[in-house]
Amino acid sequence: ERIISPGMQMEDNELEAGLRPRKLNEYIGQQKAKETISLFVEAARQRGEALDHVLLFGPPGLGKTTLSNIIANEMGVSIRTTSGPAIERQGDLAAILTNLAQGDVLFIDEIHRLSRAVEEILYPAMEDFALDIVLGKGPGARSIRLDLPKFTLIGATTRAGMLASPLRDRFGIISRLEFYTVEELTVIVQRAARILNVAIDQAGAEEIARRSRGTPRVANRLLKRVRDYAQVKAQGDITWEAAAQALEFFEVDPLGLDQTDRHLLRTMIEKFNGGPVGLDTIAAATSEEADTVEDVLEPYLMQLGFITRTPRGRMVTPQAYKHLGLPVKKDENG
Ligand code: ADP
Repeated sequence: ERIISPGMQMEDNELEAGLRPRKLNEYIGQQKAKETISLFVEAARQRGEALDHVLLFGPPGLGKTTLSNIIANEMGVSIRTTSGPAIERQGDLAAILTNLAQGDVLFIDEIHRLSRAVEEILYPAMEDFALDIVLGKGPGARSIRLDLPKFTLIGATTRAGMLASPLRDRFGIISRLEFYTVEELTVIVQRAARILNVAIDQAGAEEIARRSRGTPRVANRLLKRVRDYAQVKAQGDITWEAAAQALEFFEVDPLGLDQTDRHLLRTMIEKFNGGPVGLDTIAAATSEEADTVEDVLEPYLMQLGFITRTPRGRMVTPQAYKHLGLPVKKDENG
């Protein structure tokens, strides 16, 4: 698996359990989202009510699950965690909902992957805190309405545009998480190093931060790998040299790109003259899933300004050519 993939990997489970901040003031960056959420949390607490439903969106690994846990913690309630694909039938959701207590948080990761049927019973649950259950089949069927405790749904998704609008409209609070700056990631790396008891200097932390694609999950994972490298190949301490050497060894370049990113850019340049080229064509030419290109590869390349989206497709920018050491394409329009 890619060392810089922002998605959850096996090794992250154990690592992340210990590194997750538990309070809003330990949660680094995301100023806008934090301000919005702390305001609504404070208001709900003062009134002694459940927090309004929250939708968090943004690329994987930016802290949506972490923030949801913090919200529950700050509200002083329990959190129940599940995901869109895990809720297969209406009955699965009904079972979860009827087990919630007043004020509890239900966190649904990948909420855009809920089935239509499940979504349908979620609407009245969110709006009226009621569950409509159909008993029996055919002409004899009748529907009964069960009251639910007032709960808070927190939905997480990589792209808000993938949600059906009736679902999106039922969230009172919508927050978008952004890629982190190198400064913020440096603080995250230093905090993680402290928890993991790893000696690291400022320059070492910054180098890991620079190559972490704006993503805390990647930063934590790179820190762990660099620690192993430094332990075996250097004196154990993570200096700038140790970090740079280690990341070169793991083939993560100074901007955090790996083979997969470079292959994607090169394919667009060599096969399609730098674009414009459509998403599905890029996916087919690189043997990646279109969803992976759009959710995982492209956001960071766009953030770097290496790819732009135009109505006619994706284009590689001159900065990307420079980064790859290729001659910049002549603009056909002069
Ligand atoms: P997502 O749900 O968006 O995929 P997570 O919430 O699982 O991302 O975050 C991945 C890891 O990154 C967490 O375990 C945590 O250690 C770290 N992390 C995320 N956001 C922050 C933050 N703002 N400050 C510090 N660490 C963070």
